[in-house]
Amino acid sequence: MSYAVTLIPGDGIGPELATATRSVLEATGIAFEWDVQQAGEATIASEGTPLPERVIESIRRNGVAIKGPITTPVGSGFRSVNVGLRQALELYANVRPARSMQGVETRYQNVDLIIVRENTEDLYAGIEHRVGPDAAESIKIITRAASQRIARYAFEYAVRNGRRKVTAVHKANIMKLSDGLFLESCQQVAAEYEGRVAFEDRIVDNMCMQLVQKPELYDVLVLPNLYGDIVSDLAAGLVGGLGVAPGANIGEKAAVFEPVHGSAPKYAGQDKANPTALILSAALMLRHLGETDAAAAVERAVREVIAGGETITADLGGRAGTREFADAVATRVRASV
Ligand code: NAD
Repeated sequence: MSYAVTLIPGDGIGPELATATRSVLEATGIAFEWDVQQAGEATIASEGTPLPERVIESIRRNGVAIKGPITTPVGSGFRSVNVGLRQALELYANVRPARSMQGVETRYQNVDLIIVRENTEDLYAGIEHRVGPDAAESIKIITRAASQRIARYAFEYAVRNGRRKVTAVHKANIMKLSDGLFLESCQQVAAEYEGRVAFEDRIVDNMCMQLVQKPELYDVLVLPNLYGDIVSDLAAGLVGGLGVAPGANIGEKAAVFEPVHGSAPKYAGQDKANPTALILSAALMLRHLGETDAAAAVERAVREVIAGGETITADLGGRAGTREFADAVATRVRASV
């Protein structure tokens, strides 16, 4: 039995992180058939697009992908590969866990948040236009179907993972119709889970303040696209920043696992970047595939190597290279499975 997985190395630090992640996954003893697909800057020159159709087809075929970061060319007219993939594959749920790790210096010790961001609509629907020379308009789209779907995903996640509470985040006091519909949809879904998972809601500005004051009070958060984008970076900051923040984009038929961070071009090819976020994203893929023991082994190994403090990358205050860190994690994984 082996899993066919699409592997998109990506741009900048992406290829070295992908190699590191692959070696950790292979240390679990699970067999993978890697369907390596180039996308991003390199394919703009060779294929005229950063997101060739073959990449989407590969993910459709395999059902799962691990994706390194991809540079969004500024002002070139190409749309973001990330947004393109989410829309083409209907990856409606963006899930970003933010959990404190021993050995990563932060202001908080006990953060354990799951950010569930609606990934397909809101201001990211990409409908905007100029209204004359001095004004522009962006359309914010919120539908009951997408709001209920993401709320249900958040509650199901809570049930599956033994989480106690879902908090819906919105600005329904001002955007009474659009955010009001999002909140109403979450309340409707919450009623189905009464007695099993607690529910509350917070206005997004208050939520931000509460998260930096007492993040330990929160558990699973469900948000429309834009607030989800911003609050998930805030949550990543609470637990040590971009180098350690994993993510998953989940749809009915496919799922793409990728770190929160970008391609950090200034570190490209230097064996300096921290592969933790991509390795932990790969652990989320293992869970998605039902390989929970292997996922736990990878997560434990990452935590132990970081807590040890001897083999950590520069962003965490150490001197280890990407490769050396990944080797230390892979060695522990191999010893534990
Ligand atoms: P970035 O996340 O690439 O880098 C910001 C800073 O964070 C870096 O300079 C570096 O100091 C640090 N950093 C990020 N990842 C790290 C890692 N693994 N190890 C150590 N340090 C790390 O953000 P940016 O500079 O705003 O974006 C660069 C490019 O990446 C842009 O083209 C952007 O569009 C793209 N991007 C892609 C994705 C994606 O593919 N999902 C996400 C965000 C940004």
